[in-house]
Amino acid sequence: EPSPPYRGRFAPSPTGDLHLGSLVAALGSWLMARAAGGEWWVRIEDLDPPREVAGASERQLATLVAFSLVADGPVVRQSDRGALYQAALDRLLASGHAFECHCSRADLAATGGIHRACVTDRRRDQPAVRLRVPDGTSVTFHDLLLGRQQQAVDREVGDFVLRRADGPWAYQLAVVVDDAAQGITDVVRGADLLDSTPRQILLQRALGLPTPRHAHLPLVVDANGRKLSKSLQAVIVDPADPLPALRAAWQRLGQSPGAVANCTTTEALLQAAWRHFDAGRIPQSAPALRRDAQQSF
Ligand code: GLU
Repeated sequence: EPSPPYRGRFAPSPTGDLHLGSLVAALGSWLMARAAGGEWWVRIEDLDPPREVAGASERQLATLVAFSLVADGPVVRQSDRGALYQAALDRLLASGHAFECHCSRADLAATGGIHRACVTDRRRDQPAVRLRVPDGTSVTFHDLLLGRQQQAVDREVGDFVLRRADGPWAYQLAVVVDDAAQGITDVVRGADLLDSTPRQILLQRALGLPTPRHAHLPLVVDANGRKLSKSLQAVIVDPADPLPALRAAWQRLGQSPGAVANCTTTEALLQAAWRHFDAGRIPQSAPALRRDAQQSF
């Protein structure tokens, strides 16, 4: 099935209720998709059971519905998709891009956790699997909001984990497999994930998958520039009273408050937001990667 010209997504991890930061990512990705005449899908990233909160994904989905942010395609859960991740991992192992690694966290302490070569003779029953990042590997990509981004993945990240020794799939592998399987053309998400993008691009290349376009949205920070605490963010996003949170997210995206001031329903607010949305007004967050070009809108 050929991909549409634009298919975006929102991919929350069910580690708690939706907060203002996640609402900015949800609304921002929805607006970018609508502005492009495209689709907007939702994926639940429940890869890490110990970090999950019981019932959180159901509450996140219900909150999106209360905000009239409705997925245009089927909602999938990563916990159902292990066979896809295993198939990708098998291909990477067979092609030599991935390797089994018996190093422990302590083994890598001397290099700040960065893996360049295995440093142990120990053999674990279940090793981790890493992607090999050859010396000199640097990834450059163009972020629609932040401009040109570059990361020396060999020095700054090293060989990275695809499946942990204790079993779970790494986010990096799952997100790449799912974005490709779902025909996602545009990844619009918080700038806290900017430094994951080069790893995902390396995985796409190793698996022969297309690289989507990327846009990283500003993080919601407090007056001191710190990420808002979960508790502070949680109080703001109330599914029973969605308009204030939608207006707050709209403003965090740099958009004009007046455009949505008089809307009395979520549907009306989203329609007005769609009409008035100007991606060029989205503020640039402090980028985690080197930036050497101005905003490119
Ligand atoms: N599941 C990730 C998170 O909630 C987002 C993944 C993504 O958008 O690529 O932080």
